[in-house]
Amino acid sequence: MGPIVILTGAGISAESGLGTFRDEGGLWSRHRIEDVATPEGFARDPGLVHRFYNARRQQAAAARPNAAHHALARLEAAYPGRVTIVTQNVDALHEAAGSRDVLHMHGTLAGALCAACGHRWAAPPEMQPGHPCPACAAPTARPDVVWFGEMPYHMDRIWDLLRAAEIFAAIGTSGQVYPAAAFVQDADRAGAHTVEINLEPSAVVSDFAETRLGMASVAVPAWVAEMLGD
Ligand SMILES: [Zn+2]
Repeated sequence: MGPIVILTGAGISAESGLGTFRDEGGLWSRHRIEDVATPEGFARDPGLVHRFYNARRQQAAAARPNAAHHALARLEAAYPGRVTIVTQNVDALHEAAGSRDVLHMHGTLAGALCAACGHRWAAPPEMQPGHPCPACAAPTARPDVVWFGEMPYHMDRIWDLLRAAEIFAAIGTSGQVYPAAAFVQDADRAGAHTVEINLEPSAVVSDFAETRLGMASVAVPAWVAEMLGD
């Protein structure tokens, strides 16, 4: 069976209680994106940025995977071909559910990154400004998350995977953030069957061959059951 590539976005973690910058009333609504999710914001006020990500890290550590995460882990375990998850999410809920082949294109809350030398290490629960890098001692530790204006991680591998995919599914993504919003076109050009699974149609829903609307915790297990023929 041919490879499956699955793009996941905030919609799959929302049902585990993790909000996004588009939600009102959540963690993001108290801050401007340019203050907490850009390199310029970090340069201006690293303390604010660390407090923001410390809160997100704490929230993510308390979250549990939902039925959609579990269904994707079951697909990877039972499907007789490769199943790769490319996620825009910085939580570890796919891994917590048992998925192994996961690429975090926007980094992870679990990681720290040295802005001076690029060294990566496991982030402590609370990061502080001025914390020295364990490799070069520069006081420039930052969360290992991709901010607006920065290049997402693993792009060459992701494009290779899309070119080889037999099935491409996008789950819980808005279709408003590039390059992820264009993955469907890359997969389609390569001959993959494309399916969007979402609460509401995304901005790029017309690029997909198939659309399934509904809660991720319901629609994803149903799709996986069909994929596995059970
Ligand atoms: Zn360093």
